Amino acid sequence: PSGPVLLWPRLNVFRTQSSPPAPSVSPSAHPLRFTTGTVLVFAGLAYDPQMERHQCSCGDNSLHHEYPERTQSIWSRLNERGSVRECLLCTRKASMKELQSVHSENYVLMYGCNPLHQAKLDNRRLGGKFQHVVLLFKVDNDTFWNEPHTSTASRLAAGCVTDLALKVAQRELKNGFAVVRPPGHHATHASPLGFCYFNSVAIAAKQVQQKCNVSKILILDWDVHHGNGTQEAFYSDPSVLYISVHRYDHGLFFPGSGDPTEVGAGAGEGFNVNVAWTGGLDPPMGDAEYLAAFRTVVMPIAHEFSPDLVLVSAGFDAVEGNPDELGGYKVTAKCTSHVVGGGRVVLALEGGHQLRALCDAAEACVSALLGMEVLDMTMLTCECEGRDSLCLRGDIESFYSVSAGRASVPVRPRAETM
Ligand SMILES: [Zn+2]
Ligand SMILES: [Zn+2]
Repeated sequence: PSGPVLLWPRLNVFRTQSSPPAPSVSPSAHPLRFTTGTVLVFAGLAYDPQMERHQCSCGDNSLHHEYPERTQSIWSRLNERGSVRECLLCTRKASMKELQSVHSENYVLMYGCNPLHQAKLDNRRLGGKFQHVVLLFKVDNDTFWNEPHTSTASRLAAGCVTDLALKVAQRELKNGFAVVRPPGHHATHASPLGFCYFNSVAIAAKQVQQKCNVSKILILDWDVHHGNGTQEAFYSDPSVLYISVHRYDHGLFFPGSGDPTEVGAGAGEGFNVNVAWTGGLDPPMGDAEYLAAFRTVVMPIAHEFSPDLVLVSAGFDAVEGNPDELGGYKVTAKCTSHVVGGGRVVLALEGGHQLRALCDAAEACVSALLGMEVLDMTMLTCECEGRDSLCLRGDIESFYSVSAGRASVPVRPRAETM
């Protein structure tokens, strides 16, 4: 075949039959799988220790949830396990122009320049905002600014994700994992939020659209928080399908966006899907709920969309061990790797604040990318019935009525390869 072919177990999910189907096909270790004409051997890993210089100037990392040891310890773990040796390594900073594909020019100048470069810039061009950023110590309680390291770290994070995405889209790599910080999915067109400055995944998607012959990109965001910035960036764009699975609690959980009724606008209507959990932590969501959501909502819609490339906002804060205020759910590390195996997929680290959970989940995902591990999650059942929660049995119909409106993107005929 000329393009990648998405193989997926045939799921017998219809509007009238919305219960999670028992798998009628032999369980696939990797539900999301592409085949290409060429066998690509290498997975890519993107990382740069300079990202660890981004830290609060108070010097006490224990006061902060987003701290340098997050990426440092993941990288150590991947080294210990030998994964780093098996992958091609990438690192680079995003260019100012790349950053501007998602963020405003002023915003990029404010947060993307280190002081030396800023001093050289024409003050008139900056419109007086230069002074503001120098004085800025904290964007908010979560999001500290460290002059000059934050701009470098944020540009490296965006550049690393972009580099992997371009290489996977151009088939230089089979897939990739970006061990990056600060995270990006809360950053909007002109505002930092929730630890995030540049929206790395959104920038990567825009760059792939601009530079590669790729027509459809799926952004899957399984961070426990809704990716408001990513949703915003592609809200009217039918060529990028954004699917988020997140804790919502009727808008009471940060950042408050991500209601299931937010379905996209204009041509993008139907290409924004929010699987929004409610019911707080009584009891917390776990593997069964996540797998049910993936099986009944995420995968059927993604399958129908048939993306050329999948970018994952891979936050690990839904994983067991994260503090209640930053997640509180009980998803296992292994479960996170359930959907990432063998495909044109790039994972980018977003949240995840407990080191053990972070390292275990990152290791599981990288193992899946390397094709080292076979998982069988089919024994799990959905336990969300009767809860004040996303009721998959009821809501699947509304997801599908949205899905049925997607006529503007031609769906490439899929080869019958099963
Ligand atoms: Zn501090
Ligand atoms: Zn998060």
